[in-house]
Amino acid sequence: MYEFAVTPAVTQIRRRGVEISEVVPGSLGAELELEPGDRIMRVNGRVVRDYLDFRFQSGGETDLVIDVRKGTGEDWELNIERDEAEAFGLSFEQIVPRQCANECIFCFCKGNPETARPSLFVRDEDVRLSFLYGNYTTLTSITEDEMRRVIEQRLTPQYVSVHATDLDVRAYLLGVDKERADISAKMRCLLDAGIEIHAQVVLCPEINDAEILRRTIYDLAELHPRVRSVAIVPLGLTRYLNDARLTAVTPEFCRRTIRDVGEIQKDLRTRLGTTFAFLGDEIYLRAGRTVPSRAHYGDYPQIEDGIGMVRSFANSFDALMRRLRRGLVLEARPSRTLFGTIMTGTLFAAPLERMIDRLNEDFGTRLNVLAIENEYFGGDVSVAGLLSGGDFLAAREKVVGEFAIIPRVTLKSDEPVMLDGMRFEELQQHFGVPLYAFDFKQFAAALETELIHERQALGEAA
Ligand code: SF4
Repeated sequence: MYEFAVTPAVTQIRRRGVEISEVVPGSLGAELELEPGDRIMRVNGRVVRDYLDFRFQSGGETDLVIDVRKGTGEDWELNIERDEAEAFGLSFEQIVPRQCANECIFCFCKGNPETARPSLFVRDEDVRLSFLYGNYTTLTSITEDEMRRVIEQRLTPQYVSVHATDLDVRAYLLGVDKERADISAKMRCLLDAGIEIHAQVVLCPEINDAEILRRTIYDLAELHPRVRSVAIVPLGLTRYLNDARLTAVTPEFCRRTIRDVGEIQKDLRTRLGTTFAFLGDEIYLRAGRTVPSRAHYGDYPQIEDGIGMVRSFANSFDALMRRLRRGLVLEARPSRTLFGTIMTGTLFAAPLERMIDRLNEDFGTRLNVLAIENEYFGGDVSVAGLLSGGDFLAAREKVVGEFAIIPRVTLKSDEPVMLDGMRFEELQQHFGVPLYAFDFKQFAAALETELIHERQALGEAA
């Protein structure tokens, strides 16, 4: 049997049911006169806690009894017959994350400046978000009800921060006692029920590296294929996270880790047919090494955790170059229009510059890569995704050309706001040239449009 935490994760007291936020006009929901603000309370007598419950309890059912509390306070009971594939056309309020009850010594929340966006201080520990978005949980405070739910609703895969299979080390890292740190029975229970797990190790020099890491990887590999992969990402220190128990990750440490884990990967590839334990891109870049080839990453099982992003970007860039070569039949010549600056974090600047140099050489563009220092977080934070509005602002004098680009990932996914709360429009106003926030796809599309447009213009003038 598995034991549950004495202290449950923090759960906000919430109203019952799930609130409808949007109803598609002409949909089944609209026909039933459901409106934004109404709450679905029960489906076929079963309590609904959030939209996952609604989806699970209504999915595949053709005869439904739905209890609704209208925005006016009235209670409705809806008896519905529908075709199996007929959607309700409803959107629901966001899930409010449950929060963790750990005190990890490397917790990223402790590394935030006080002025950071409030959402950066949310210490979520929620199996629903793990299933939906790949957020990691530690399983230290999962309740029995949540375990049942994961299994019953097939919330698979789950993303679990293991950090170390050595209990003393795991407890030390998480700041909890050994009993709570021990999740072996919970993991077994999930795996036996067919729930797959992707694991994570935040690698802290002198704590869970070397032999501890080796054991962790091999212990988890014993559970393959139900444990599908392990992501090993380096500790990130900011100027606010400077706990004396933590040791900074150095290039030499990264090189040693690549060497040691490289041997394990080779062994696991022979035995399991997969690399299984993947090192974060940051480890290769900080070691001054090139990232492994596409084959190393298989189907990129942990790309959201920074595993294989650089390889995937480089491959997409190569494909873009091939498309441009095919599309541009005119001789390459200096561009009259594409003269601008691409800003990124210091970590990715060197590999990006090598790619952009090839583009400039082949197609006559004049694009410059500008490495932006992260003053907002300080420490060894060098990834593009953690740059703030103030960091870009501080570098604006170094921008050359007629436009500038920042990585799209520096903006909130649902709002053009940066980590320090600065709005993108405000940042744009401070630049003397047009400023764009692009992800790779948007960059590629803009480049193709511009180059092909230029080719056509040149063709017409010829
Ligand atoms: S790192 Fe994650 S699990 Fe640990 S204290 Fe912070 S939010 Fe909680």
